[in-house]
Amino acid sequence: MCARCGDALNALAGPSFSPLCRVCRMAPPPFVKAVAYGAYQGRMKEAVHALKYDRLHPAARGLGRMLAEAIAKLAGQAPAEMLVIPIPLHRTKLAQRGFNQARSLAREALGFLRKSHPEWRLTLAASTLMRLRATESQAGLTPRQRRLNVRGAFSVSDPSKVTMQNVLLVDDILTTGATARAAAQALLEAGAASVWVATLARAQLVSRFGRRFAHQDAEESEEFAGAAPDGIRYEASLSTESSNLQKQPSF
Ligand SMILES: [Zn+2]
Repeated sequence: MCARCGDALNALAGPSFSPLCRVCRMAPPPFVKAVAYGAYQGRMKEAVHALKYDRLHPAARGLGRMLAEAIAKLAGQAPAEMLVIPIPLHRTKLAQRGFNQARSLAREALGFLRKSHPEWRLTLAASTLMRLRATESQAGLTPRQRRLNVRGAFSVSDPSKVTMQNVLLVDDILTTGATARAAAQALLEAGAASVWVATLARAQLVSRFGRRFAHQDAEESEEFAGAAPDGIRYEASLSTESSNLQKQPSF
């Protein structure tokens, strides 16, 4: 696994002693480190879908515990005092869904962490980061167009709130990291001291030499914004699930 973004390192690339993936070597992310509880597949994927699309709020508790475990991986590395900022939805998306799943997960996770890591001072700051643009479905866009599409999509409402603060960005899924990069960039420009990232699930990257797959999940279209060089694709799931596609609104 990449020490920076948590992506799987490509074993087919031959013996490499770099602890970083190709993307992080070529274009280092603005965040210090990204951690996740597990892979975005199987039951994890079903649970995230239940929360987001079936609005099954009880799922947030179990998933929040998993997110807490992901955040706990940062113990001893990340600062003991951090602002926890869920990746915001654009207001039209928020109105459509009725809630921000990242915020629900963050709230649950902090509840668990207060007990398991009482020494950690984590403060939820859910309205600090704003999403200025609704990033529409990126299907049909080139990787470069996707990068541009998500760039500048975030803004900090009150920079004095984040100045010299260490920030933990929280989201449900990290795919290419384009969203996390854009959000971290906005926070650093507003004066944040450091930005860390924790997500529930990580969709793994596959290179063009890696396993082939045909995955067109509308849900990940936003995250498919791609911070990666051309020729690298991202694997959000090992299988296509057409039944799930039907109930997913596009971003
Ligand atoms: Zn990496």
